[in-house]
Amino acid sequence: MTLAADPVAIARDLIRCPSVTPAEGGALAYLADLLQRAGFTVHRMTFSEPGTPDIENLYARIGDAAPHLMFAGHTDVVPPGDDAAWLHPPFAAEIRDGVLYGRGAVDMEGGIACAVAATLDHLAATGGRPKGSISFLITGDEESVAVNGTIKLLRWAAGRGERFDHCILAEPSNVEALGDTIKIGRRGSLNGTLIVTGRQAHVAYPHRGENPIRGLVQILAALMAEPLDAGSATFQPSNLEFTSVDVGNRTVNLIPGEARARFNIRYNDCHTQASLRDLVERRAAAAAGSVRHRFEWEPSNADVFVTAPGPFTELVAGAIRDVTGRQPELSTSGGTSDARFIKDYCAVVEFGLVGQTMHQIDERVPVAELAQLTEIYRRILARYFA
Ligand SMILES: [Zn+2]
Repeated sequence: MTLAADPVAIARDLIRCPSVTPAEGGALAYLADLLQRAGFTVHRMTFSEPGTPDIENLYARIGDAAPHLMFAGHTDVVPPGDDAAWLHPPFAAEIRDGVLYGRGAVDMEGGIACAVAATLDHLAATGGRPKGSISFLITGDEESVAVNGTIKLLRWAAGRGERFDHCILAEPSNVEALGDTIKIGRRGSLNGTLIVTGRQAHVAYPHRGENPIRGLVQILAALMAEPLDAGSATFQPSNLEFTSVDVGNRTVNLIPGEARARFNIRYNDCHTQASLRDLVERRAAAAAGSVRHRFEWEPSNADVFVTAPGPFTELVAGAIRDVTGRQPELSTSGGTSDARFIKDYCAVVEFGLVGQTMHQIDERVPVAELAQLTEIYRRILARYFA
């Protein structure tokens, strides 16, 4: 059957679902119904992990042949903050002067709506079945800890024999204007804590103690002084950023016994997590002299990755050029996303709406951009299955 493929209507329906992580809010049920009616086989899974809320997920596929193109995304959204600060209520999906307002408008129910609308159009044009397979892999767990979402969904799909060729993650990839940026990779992220041990003493008798703050500052200065690398062909230089320096000393006359500094490293493809830990520890040791110190590293599931530019990135870029007249930059900047999990299963690029208002009061998208993004996805589908 042919369904009306209106990205604006779908986006409004999704925004009206209050799907603040971990709540499903009706968003996945809505998509399940829509995709089922379009001929998709739909699976709904709830994943659990001790210490985190259960999360609902969705996987839907139409077609059983290769090539297999996956659209990925999340229907959960960040909290709206102060409702009263919004020009239009965050879950009302009001349109004013050609602009759709609401939490999730760009991150990323709007992007999902465009992918769904483009797919419905594509199916209508091809007699209801693609010349290959199209799937939607949609989670409700991206904006929070992301342990019961895409990572488990992919494992589940692989376990039942699903094979993907390419993925478009419909995250808001563009910086200023629709079509300016495709994300083809992401930096890795690693968190650590530097702990310097001293000896507590009365502040009037410093020679009896050993102030760990002196040692901490010494090592901190050394780690901040020298860049981790000079960048690579596809990545900006890696960066170590201290985020907190903690002694927790509430007393005025006491030299503390320990001082800590937390930091995050966004790293490029010059490093692995292991080589990075090694580099930081060696530099700290060289600067430390006799200062007693150690590092605690948090486990990270955010490894660096890049999808090499090639026929697939060119196909996506070509569709963007045709619709927007812009030549998209192939970028690896910004934070992490679920692409870090997808890259283990197939080539993945991120292309969606413009990210400027994401996670902000009055998150919004011009209705015209929803139509444009839908047209871009439509052309991608037409060429991918040509
Ligand atoms: Zn997002």
